[in-house]
Amino acid sequence: PVMENETKGKTEVNDVKEIKDVKDYKDAKIKIDIDRYRVKEGDTINLKKFATYCDQDVDKSAVKNYAFPQALDEISLLQAKLFAQSTYGLIIVLQAMDAAGKDSTIKHVFSHLDPNGVHVVSFKQPTEEEKDHDYMWRINKALPRRGDIGVFNRSHYEDVIVSRVHNLIEQGKMPKNLISKDIWDIRYRQIRDWETYLNENGFPILKIFLHVSKDEQRDRLAERILNKQKNWKFSMADINERRYWDRYQELYSEMISETSLKEAPWYIVPADQKWYTRYVVAQIVIKALKDIAPKFPEMSKEIKDQLEEFRKLIESGSVGMIEEMQDMMLPSDK
Ligand code: ATP
Ligand code: MG
Repeated sequence: PVMENETKGKTEVNDVKEIKDVKDYKDAKIKIDIDRYRVKEGDTINLKKFATYCDQDVDKSAVKNYAFPQALDEISLLQAKLFAQSTYGLIIVLQAMDAAGKDSTIKHVFSHLDPNGVHVVSFKQPTEEEKDHDYMWRINKALPRRGDIGVFNRSHYEDVIVSRVHNLIEQGKMPKNLISKDIWDIRYRQIRDWETYLNENGFPILKIFLHVSKDEQRDRLAERILNKQKNWKFSMADINERRYWDRYQELYSEMISETSLKEAPWYIVPADQKWYTRYVVAQIVIKALKDIAPKFPEMSKEIKDQLEEFRKLIESGSVGMIEEMQDMMLPSDK
């Protein structure tokens, strides 16, 4: 069962358990079209034209109590196959304005997965060591291995967004003669090439922008001040960054237009309602995993036949079954 937030009462948890059954939601609307949130390669988008709230006819209660938990089960199975197959690795990038809900989306969509195969990495302000390298250095170090899902809470995209809003590139250690007026176009090109390279090597990338409205951000920042359990999330910087809201929206629009690729698309996900955000993100992750189509590795016919023999032995209830299996083992396994 998934709760909207920890402050909700105990009764809700019980409710969720009781109605987690298909027949209770037989006629409920739970299907959504995620394609409308995907940015097609070459499209020039304006964030203002994208919804920040649920814009499809779906039943909230059916989504929260039935469809979302079911989607999580589906992700689990696909992730288990991805891990077992161990050939593809999936990279999921999350970007957003402050308080759009990156952390809570990650918590609700990914945290029930096998921790062996899923890694969340948060990219904060670069450390001194990170500043001594190119901007992709720390991102490269954090890439998932084959079979794994790497979830990036912020990413290399900070280096074409926050760096640009605050002119950080000038203050950094890049050789001055390499910082031309084309620097952002150059970086977009580098990012497209790098993501294409990863995709061509078995590491598809999925990029999600959580699109929150300015009003909802205000309410959430206020909540961090009012609610003692959320005080730890409060940051003066978030209050200050709000000054640059329009600039951020403009740069995000440009960046998403420049870097959405057929094989590495951006999705602009409405982020004003958490239940909806989580559900959309879950469906996007399912689609990405289905595109990879991972399968449990096939066993050889020899081993399958032998397991069939072992199965009969176990069902016969023989006390010495393991010893009998030892006798039946292929010479190559002994
Ligand atoms: P979040 O805000 O993502 O929930 P947080 O509040 O736990 O995370 P912060 O201290 O706010 O942690 O760290 C994120 C900050 O680091 C953001 O302000 C972000 O813009 C900044 N940042 C991330 N990557 C870079 C970068 N490459 N260059 C400059 N600043 C960066
Ligand atoms: Mg922050």
